[in-house]
Amino acid sequence: MELHILTLCYIIASVTFIIGLKMLSSPATARRGNLVAAAGMTIAIFATIFLFREDDGKKLHNYVWIFAGLIIGTIAGTLAAKKVKMTAMPEMVSLFNGMGGACAALISAAEFYHTYKINQGAVDTPFSSLVGVGQYITIAAGAIIGTISYTGSIIAWGKLNGRIKDFSFKGQHIVNMIILVLVIGAAVWAYQSAMGNIYLPFILIGFFAFIYGILFVMPIGGADMPVVISLLNSFTGVAAACGGFLYNNKAMLTGGILVGAAGTLLTILMCKAMNRSLTNVLIGSFGGGATAAKGEGGTKTQGAYKEISLADAAMVMGYANKVMIVPGYGLAVAQAQHTCHELEKILGEKGVEVKYAIHPVAGRMPGHMNVLLAEADVSYDKLLEMEYANDEFATTDVVLVLGANDVVNPAAKNDPASPIYGMPILEVEQAKTVIVNKRSMKPGYAGIENDLFFQPKTSMLFGDAKKVLQELCAEVKNI
Ligand code: NDP
Repeated sequence: MELHILTLCYIIASVTFIIGLKMLSSPATARRGNLVAAAGMTIAIFATIFLFREDDGKKLHNYVWIFAGLIIGTIAGTLAAKKVKMTAMPEMVSLFNGMGGACAALISAAEFYHTYKINQGAVDTPFSSLVGVGQYITIAAGAIIGTISYTGSIIAWGKLNGRIKDFSFKGQHIVNMIILVLVIGAAVWAYQSAMGNIYLPFILIGFFAFIYGILFVMPIGGADMPVVISLLNSFTGVAAACGGFLYNNKAMLTGGILVGAAGTLLTILMCKAMNRSLTNVLIGSFGGGATAAKGEGGTKTQGAYKEISLADAAMVMGYANKVMIVPGYGLAVAQAQHTCHELEKILGEKGVEVKYAIHPVAGRMPGHMNVLLAEADVSYDKLLEMEYANDEFATTDVVLVLGANDVVNPAAKNDPASPIYGMPILEVEQAKTVIVNKRSMKPGYAGIENDLFFQPKTSMLFGDAKKVLQELCAEVKNI
C-alpha cells in the first residue's frame, strides 16, 4: 500500500514539475509556476523519506542525518535567496546549478560505494561481474557529468562576479580532449578492475572530471558565457536523471530529464543567438584569448565622443515618432526598470511610439531583460526580439541605450580580432539618433571598447540609469 502511495506521490511531483515549467514560460504565471513545482518537490522529498523502502524492505532509518541536512540546506538556501541582490541572481543560479551537479555526483559515488560495500569479501571479483553495464554507465555518467557541472558552474560563478578571469593557453583544446579521454579511460579501468583495486580508478574518474570542468569553462570569454551556463544547466539535469535511474526514483528522473531537456534547448537557442556551433562549445574552444580592442587600459583609441544634456535628450525623445529602448545589464544594476517603464508611459502619452529591443544575452542570465521588464509590468507586446528589432531600427527616430554595451557593439560585425566577433548584435546605428546612457566610458562584460559611442549619430548621456531616467521623466513631462 505504502509503495503505491509513494508512486502516486512521485507521479504528482512529476506532473507539478511539468505544469510548473509550462507556467514559467509566461511572466504572468512564472511565480506561481515556481511554487507549484516546489510544492511537488516537497511532496517527493517527504514521500521518499517516510515511504521509500530499500531492497531488503527496510525503511530509511538515518533520520537525524537526513533532517540535519534538510534543515541546514533550507536555512542556507532561504537566507541566500532572501539576501541576494537582483544583479547577483545569475551568480546564485550558477552556484545552485553547481550544487545540483555535486549532489548528482555524490549519489553516484554513494551508489558505487554501496556496491563495493556489499561485495567487500569478493576482492578478486571484477566490478564488471557484479554490476551490469547499463547500471555502471549510469553510475559513471552521473559521477562524470555531475562533477564537470559542479566545477564548471563554480568557475562560471566566479566569472560572473568578476573574481575569476578568462584563462587559456596554447593547445588547450588538445589538453581538454586528452583529459576527457582520461576520464573515460578511468571509467573503463574501474569497470574492469577487481573489487580490491577499485578505489584508485574511481578517484581518478572524479579527479579528471573535476579538472575538465575547470579547464572547459576557464577560457570561455564574455559573449559566450550564456551558452556555457545553459549547457552546464543541462549537464546537471542529465546527471540528476542518472541518479533517478539508479534509485528507480520517478520524480528525480522526470525532474532531471526536464532540466536536461530544457537546458539543452536553451543551449541550442543561445548558440543560434550567438552564432556559435555546439561542437565548439563542447570542446571549450571559443571566445577566450582574444584581447583586441580592449577598453580602458587597452591599446585601441577611438577618438572623441559627444555628450548630450538631459534637456536635449528629453526634447529629442519627446518630439520623436518612434523611440526604441535597448536595456542592458546597467539597467539591472541601477534597478531602474520601474522608472524606465514610467518614461515609456510618459512618452506614450505624448504620442510617441515606444518599444524595447531585447538582445538574447543582454544582462547576465538568459532572459534577464524579459524578467527585469516584466517585474516593472512592461507590456510583453512592447518587447521586440533581436531580429524584429533590427528590422525596425531604420524607421526609428531615437534609440535610447540604457546600460547596454556589448550587445550593441559593432565590433561583433566589423572586427575579426574582437572576442565578440560573429555575435549578432542590435544594429542601433541604423536609427536616426542614438543616445547612450551609462556612467563612464568603461567597457562592458567582454572588456572591449565600443565604436558605437564614437559614431557621429551617437551622444552619450552619462549617469546612473535610475537617476538619469528620473530626470528624463521630469524633463519630458515639461515639454
Ligand atoms: P554589458 O555588460 O556589456 O554592459 C553593461 C554596461 O552597463 C556597462 O558598460 C556599464 O558601463 C553600464 N552600467 C553599469 N551600471 C550602470 C548604472 N548603474 N547605470 C547606467 N549604466 C550602468 O551589458 P550588456 O547587457 O550589453 O551585455 C551583456 C554581456 O554579458 C554580454 O557580453 C554577454 O555575453 C555577457 N553575459 C551574458 C549572460 C546572459 O546569460 N545574458 C551571462 C554571462 C555573461 P559603466 O560602468 O560606464 O556605467
